[in-house]
Amino acid sequence: MITVTKAFFPPIEDYQKQLQRIWSNQWLTNRGELVLELEEKLKNYLQVPHVLCTNNGTIPLQIALKLLGNGGEIITTPFSYVATTSAIVWENCTPVFVDIHPEYLTIDETKIEAAITPKTTAILATHVFGNSCNVEAIKAIALKYNLKVIYDAAHSFGTTYKGTSVFEFGDISTCSFHATKLFHTGEGGALFCNTKDFELQSFYSHNFGHNGPEDFYGVGINGKLSELQAAMGLTVLPFMDTILKARKKVVAYYNTHLNFNKVSALKIRAHTQWNYSYYPVLFKDEATLLNVQEALNNADIFPRRYFYPSLNTLNYIKSTAMPVSENIAARIVCLPLYNGLSEKELQHIVAIINKNIC
Ligand SMILES: *Cc1c(COP(=O)(O)O)cnc(C)c1O
Repeated sequence: MITVTKAFFPPIEDYQKQLQRIWSNQWLTNRGELVLELEEKLKNYLQVPHVLCTNNGTIPLQIALKLLGNGGEIITTPFSYVATTSAIVWENCTPVFVDIHPEYLTIDETKIEAAITPKTTAILATHVFGNSCNVEAIKAIALKYNLKVIYDAAHSFGTTYKGTSVFEFGDISTCSFHATKLFHTGEGGALFCNTKDFELQSFYSHNFGHNGPEDFYGVGINGKLSELQAAMGLTVLPFMDTILKARKKVVAYYNTHLNFNKVSALKIRAHTQWNYSYYPVLFKDEATLLNVQEALNNADIFPRRYFYPSLNTLNYIKSTAMPVSENIAARIVCLPLYNGLSEKELQHIVAIINKNIC
């Protein structure tokens, strides 16, 4: 069976070495030695000034919305994983959708201003499939209207824009270290920000608001990464170059062998150093997608319809139609992409796709 992705399993001996440290320290969580070391190593690997590790990629979104959303209207994208929208609703804010760009698949920055009202407090946009948003235009709009900017950068581990980590853009950026993501800790995530003020607020927010054992800065939640998860991160991180090289080869195979008269691929924004995190293809229409999907499934190959459905159609959302997002969501699929996918498997996948598209 071939699935859309496959979690990277580092050599078990390497993981055992990290676990041995935990047993020696007799320390399992509450920002132990391994979490602190992982944060330092990530700062260095990603070239960012500040990293706060969290227990998944959703909690930092909720922390960001709690700190910056202020219960207001959040301008957001309908084309993302459900967590982007559900976090807004969960934090008692109101999602206001703005449609996406048909080729970059990120929020269409030219449509943001029309959606701003006196209740708007922030923009929450996703760097879709590791492709960066138009961060410059979004920053200009935020300055003009005094809005905060949050980026769901769950897909963007290692992506840079004009040479800078995408995690550096916006007031707060978040990442997911879920098992299926490019870099993982099993479950995990991180929050990135650029000011001492947000650094302090997000830090206490992720640890119950603690300021020492008996004092509290303010309200908080438990968003801590454990030592066991950090051990996985420290074991996986040295393999990132290997993982990226393998993924780059898979992407190159698809790029040269898919029939691009019949399908189209993601358009990467200029100046973006992309991270090979997903390989979405767009079919002519949903019928073609379903036809190809069935043929692949019959061969035990399981791509995923990322992202489907368009989030403005969720049953707990009130929204106007988002024609571009709904159209894209109906005809896009992410193809298998992971370290260890063989050339033979790729030949098989591509042959089935090219044979079944019309
Ligand atoms: C994976 C993902 C999340 C959620 O991350 P978790 O670590 O699973 O909580 C949020 N947003 C996007 C775009 C994602 O792909």
